[in-house]
Amino acid sequence: NVVGLTAGVSPNVDFLKSSKIELGRGVKVNRFLETNIKDVYAIGDCAEQHEAIGNRRTIEAVWYTGRMMGETLAQTICGNPMQYNPGHWFNSAKFFAIEYQTYGWVFSEKMKSQFEEHFHWKHKDDTKCITVAYHKETKKFLGINTFGIRMRHETFDKWLTEQQEIDYVMKHLSEANFDPEFYKHYEREILEAYNHQLKIV
Ligand SMILES: Cc1cc2nc3c(=O)[nH]c(=O)nc-3n(C[C@H](O)[C@H](O)[C@H](O)COP(=O)(O)OP(=O)(O)OC[C@H]3O[C@@H](n4cnc5c(N)ncnc54)[C@H](O)[C@@H]3O)c2cc1C
Repeated sequence: NVVGLTAGVSPNVDFLKSSKIELGRGVKVNRFLETNIKDVYAIGDCAEQHEAIGNRRTIEAVWYTGRMMGETLAQTICGNPMQYNPGHWFNSAKFFAIEYQTYGWVFSEKMKSQFEEHFHWKHKDDTKCITVAYHKETKKFLGINTFGIRMRHETFDKWLTEQQEIDYVMKHLSEANFDPEFYKHYEREILEAYNHQLKIV
């Protein structure tokens, strides 16, 4: 009953094959976004890091990393050499009526480490849910996935940098809400479900 269409994205770098620029799947670059040829750089979907940065892929085909690479490279070519540092992972997308956002790392059941614990909340109308990942022992907040509720990037980025604990994040979740005015808010309901789960555990 379901068709999953995943067309994917691949760098279109065939026109560079006759050049001396080093290619892999994309244009190979170092952390300064430099290719092997002096004064030739690559950024965005076509840039391929020699080494993956953290848990990221060597090619990151998302809009905001392209923008960050542009900002970084502008510094370098204006005389302030700067390494590309994408910070905490995040992404947001809207696919027809489905809004999806992710901040930090929330791994699937198969991929997650033995220390990664999840809190999951789903609204009874089946159109909104969140999954929050945290470290089982230290309780450190690791990341969040949201469907149908918009959250604020800056807030989660700050909490990840501050290494906040899951309790703090759940109590302050409304500060991260980014839904337009007159939207219904669910943070109280989510916090109640979280506290209820704590009592059970
Ligand atoms: C269907 C789809 C959905 C997406 N959804 C999301 C999303 O929800 N969130 C997200 O973060 N990202 C999303 N992306 C990825 C995002 O769009 C890209 O990461 C971003 O646009 C890359 O920017 P860029 O400038 O590197 O490359 P591009 O935007 O691809 O720009 C490259 C430009 O170079 C031009 N060009 C190519 N070859 C030549 C040539 N030989 N000479 C001159 N010009 C040339 C092209 O015409 C194009 O305008 C999506 C991509 C697709 C395809």
